[in-house]
Amino acid sequence: MKFLLELWQAAIYFLFPPRCPNCREMVDERYQLCAACEPKILRVDFYSRPPAPLDKVLRVTRYREGSRALLHKLKFDNNLNVVPALKKILNDVSSREEVSELLKGVDFAVPVPLHQERLKERGFNQTEKIFGDWLARKNLSLKNILVRTHATPKLFSLGKAEREKILSGAFAAAEGVDLRGQSVLIVDDIFTTGTTCKECAKVLKDLGAEKVSVLAFAADFDDNLGKQA
Ligand SMILES: [Zn+2]
Repeated sequence: MKFLLELWQAAIYFLFPPRCPNCREMVDERYQLCAACEPKILRVDFYSRPPAPLDKVLRVTRYREGSRALLHKLKFDNNLNVVPALKKILNDVSSREEVSELLKGVDFAVPVPLHQERLKERGFNQTEKIFGDWLARKNLSLKNILVRTHATPKLFSLGKAEREKILSGAFAAAEGVDLRGQSVLIVDDIFTTGTTCKECAKVLKDLGAEKVSVLAFAADFDDNLGKQA
């Protein structure tokens, strides 16, 4: 039986050799980024000036070509085939010092919620798909304690001031939630202006959360900091 399984796996490997999810170059392990793409995509660093009321913001990748393309497939084409590649990226940075620093003292995680209509349309919350298993392995539960109180248009084409106006008061907590003394981690797929996470953090802090940090799959701090990437 074991022999047959190995034979089957070898056949699959031969017929569908693992390829880099970004450029389709052949790689050793399935869903692995190739040597050329990895340094362009991975960027595990803290935002040097986290916007209040956020205490810390850590990203895993830059919101550029590779990572951006994968996330757009998931969000806008509802293509779940990219999820294993995103999870692999997350797993590969799991033991980094920055990740330990971020998760230290965190009590639980919260996904940025989708509005009911968007959830129905897409069928899943992409943030839960990306982070769910990973958080479970870190012994952190993912609690859906936030809700989106009104549907908002897709934000990617809007500027910071417009986003702030649209998102102000767009989130609320489930009834009876008390977060006094808790340290909460918001997980988000894309962190650009930070407006969404800031609005979520306001609600969490109003409920008593002592600390609210963010783990973003992709972010473009380089732009925010005016640095040349
Ligand atoms: Zn590649």
